[in-house]
Amino acid sequence: MRIITHIQELRDALQPLRQQNIPIGFVPTMGALHEGHISLIDAARLKTTCVVASVFVNPAQFGPGEDFERYPRQAEKDAEMLEKAGTNFLFMPSREEMYPVPPRFTLTPGESADVLCGKSRPGHFAGVGIIVSKLLNIVQPQYAFFGQKDLQQCLIIRQMVEDFNMPVKIEICPIIRDADGLAKSSRNQYLSPEERKSGLALSAALAWVQKHAQAGAITSTLTDFARKTLNETAGIRLDYFEIVESETLKTPDILIPENNPVAAVAAWVGKTRLIDNEFLFS
Ligand code: AMP
Repeated sequence: MRIITHIQELRDALQPLRQQNIPIGFVPTMGALHEGHISLIDAARLKTTCVVASVFVNPAQFGPGEDFERYPRQAEKDAEMLEKAGTNFLFMPSREEMYPVPPRFTLTPGESADVLCGKSRPGHFAGVGIIVSKLLNIVQPQYAFFGQKDLQQCLIIRQMVEDFNMPVKIEICPIIRDADGLAKSSRNQYLSPEERKSGLALSAALAWVQKHAQAGAITSTLTDFARKTLNETAGIRLDYFEIVESETLKTPDILIPENNPVAAVAAWVGKTRLIDNEFLFS
């Protein structure tokens, strides 16, 4: 695996591959890697011949008072994990390399960014749009791999790629969980053992809702119960629990497999904001 920190060096390294039509797969991350990230590398290796991963904690997607400063950074361990997973190139730019000047252009995502996480993190998806479009322009992969864990991010990136005719296919990979159900996240490192236990309420609520949706329960019954349970769980402050159609993020009138409904949750456990989701009919 070759580690590259400069944009031009990465372009130069990838150019010969592109000339030979070797398919490039790209996995953007913010580091502090876990098995969820590695599953994206595995998916990229299955589909493409050259796998590029990036590790960059993107300041543009953090709001004031969020955890940009304390976001876990573990460059060496990340590089080891990526190398072991069969990554060909690791792009680890500095902040100055990615943002030599503050971006003069802005990106305004559509109404999909106004709900769920977009409500409590204003500007977050605009910041994600900026970094993902910059990285896609730098790497120019045929495929880019994202995790369904960030369901809203996946939809917004798909819309951006479609709206701007970006020549890349977006692949969405399933959520990787710990054995007890907690979705793997770099932010799980922040959790004390007590908090981690409280955090299990998120995946438990999603599993309950999925089970009862399949048994015919209606949206309001499911969301009312899940919100009540989570609100009553010690150590948790619920941000949202919603059931939405995965392609529109709108609340479905009826719960049928054709709408592809998904239950999505976000909650603070102590100072840590966790998100998770589950498709109701798959
Ligand atoms: P992050 O480093 O948190 O920005 O995540 C980088 C990529 O890894 C994103 O596409 C995430 O959706 C994906 N990802 C994060 N956690 C998981 C997980 N538990 N399972 C699968 N993909 C994940």
